[in-house]
Amino acid sequence: MKKLIKGIIDFRQKSLADYRAKFSTLALGQFPDTLFIACCDSRVVPNTFASSDPGDLFVVRNIGNLVPPYQDELHSHHDTAAAIEYSVQFLHVSDIVICGHSECGAMRPFFENNTATKLPLTENWLKYAEPAYHRYLNHAETSQQLTPHNVLSQCNVIQQIEHLKTYPWIHEQLHDKKISLHGWWFDLATADVHYYNNQTKSFILIDEESENIFATL
Ligand SMILES: [Zn+2]
Repeated sequence: MKKLIKGIIDFRQKSLADYRAKFSTLALGQFPDTLFIACCDSRVVPNTFASSDPGDLFVVRNIGNLVPPYQDELHSHHDTAAAIEYSVQFLHVSDIVICGHSECGAMRPFFENNTATKLPLTENWLKYAEPAYHRYLNHAETSQQLTPHNVLSQCNVIQQIEHLKTYPWIHEQLHDKKISLHGWWFDLATADVHYYNNQTKSFILIDEESENIFATL
């Protein structure tokens, strides 16, 4: 907590002057163009690796960057669903990014039989990643040079995009080409970001060359 407080004081002393005009404009309203769904993991830092500014991203973070399907039989996870609805139907974002990452703790339980720590609420939430595990077992659509939990993490990104398509108004806007869905994967060790290429069925590094690909979307 001391580090957090010191960070606030540092921000006030060193950076606030640069941001003051930006925030006074943002106080009038937000117009983000992207809904960014990422894992809670403290090492995943979208504003840093995407060099984004305040007001650019409408961010949803949860364990495992999961999206409950629209017709969830329990209807018990309204927080993520509400954020999706608000950003798409009210803020009219044009893009949705599902961003997974390497060494994701939400993927490891699928490969471990750790009964020492009981986390029933987390286990219940992770049921939304189970279809990704079936995808992992049945498909070879991501890099096989990765460790199993990292392959699963990439499969999970693809699976959560499928869950987004179950929302009727996203399905409709996809049909009308008013919205685009993107699967990204952040490699913690290198701080590189990869995007899922639907043609090659693989994750590809985002660099200067891919800028042209995204420009056509
Ligand atoms: Zn994670």
